[in-house]
Amino acid sequence: MRGEWAPRVGFTPSSQQDAEQKAPANLVWRRPTFGWETVADPTPGHGEVVLKVRRCGVCGSDTHCYETDAEGYPLFSGPARLPCVIGHEYTGEVVALGPGVVDLRVGDLVVAEGMIGCGVCEACRVGRPNQCGRLEMVGFSAPGAFAEYIVAKERFVWKLYRLADRLGSAAAALEMAALVEPIGCAYNGMFVSAGGFLPGAWVGVFGCGPIGLGAVALARAAGAAGIAAFDPVAERRELALQLGADHVYDPLNIDAAEVLRSMSGGWGADMVVEAAGAAHLTVPPIERSFAPGGRMVYLGRTGGRAPVLLDALVTHAAGIVGARGHVGGGCFPRILRLLEKGRLPVLPMVTSRLPFSDVLDALVKSTDRREGKVMVDLDGV
Ligand SMILES: [Zn+2]
Ligand SMILES: [Zn+2]
Repeated sequence: MRGEWAPRVGFTPSSQQDAEQKAPANLVWRRPTFGWETVADPTPGHGEVVLKVRRCGVCGSDTHCYETDAEGYPLFSGPARLPCVIGHEYTGEVVALGPGVVDLRVGDLVVAEGMIGCGVCEACRVGRPNQCGRLEMVGFSAPGAFAEYIVAKERFVWKLYRLADRLGSAAAALEMAALVEPIGCAYNGMFVSAGGFLPGAWVGVFGCGPIGLGAVALARAAGAAGIAAFDPVAERRELALQLGADHVYDPLNIDAAEVLRSMSGGWGADMVVEAAGAAHLTVPPIERSFAPGGRMVYLGRTGGRAPVLLDALVTHAAGIVGARGHVGGGCFPRILRLLEKGRLPVLPMVTSRLPFSDVLDALVKSTDRREGKVMVDLDGV
């Protein structure tokens, strides 16, 4: 991905952003372009390994880099430093070790976290690495995984040997583990930031892209009494059923609050996950669906303001919790454990598999938002 550093009218980058050429993509990087380039093979520094990339999913954030607004700025609002190789939902095989690597060996199959906290700032040190002020994001501000090789720090890498053993297939483990990152965004929001829900709770999920589908599967695994999922796209509603939703609806054709209230016998939703990024449409029904003490977990990203009837929060002792990212809080290792034990049947989420040579087509295709996860297979590259 390339783009022009052209800060948007009304936005002045800080001197640090200027010096690093790193700032929210939607504010500074104009007219993004995508194409094939040859880059030097990476060499591992202290505590780093080189991975041969084996699978990499196309993320909604990648789509948001490709899609631009009327002024030509990408929709993606995370930090970016261009040019950059995109791709961050990846698994790979260790092919070289830097000095100081403790646990990894050449040949290990691994999945790597994509949000690289500095480890030094207060947010990182108190256990909020997703809020690191110096955050580097793989595939946006640090070299990504739609490439033959990538460098990763050992401390962001998790091994897949137990998953490969259980599935009896390295290829299956590499594909399944490439879903940990989007599932991790749901896990982090629902269980780390919002504190989770008790077994027997009622759960609503708005938006059945990969993160919403991850939320459905996690809610099922965590013992929800009933899960209602909402998405305007029929294919995605079908996926939500496969991943564990009890009821699915087109939110444009139904009163979602009424659905959640009647599903729960009038009690309301204990947790509602907003993974649609359409707060102006989803907040009104969510306000009317809260159970006493209910929580809305806001994962979708919307730049604009959305009106909220705060009185609904008072009446129901309800709350809205925002969350971004998938690191810290044990997200990766705990999701891997659920996958290893067969308690998170998420593979139907992968709706297309494409060879690496088709990655640009995959990016274009992702803009129609009909798919679950589009997985790029880099074997044989
Ligand atoms: Zn992602
Ligand atoms: Zn930090």
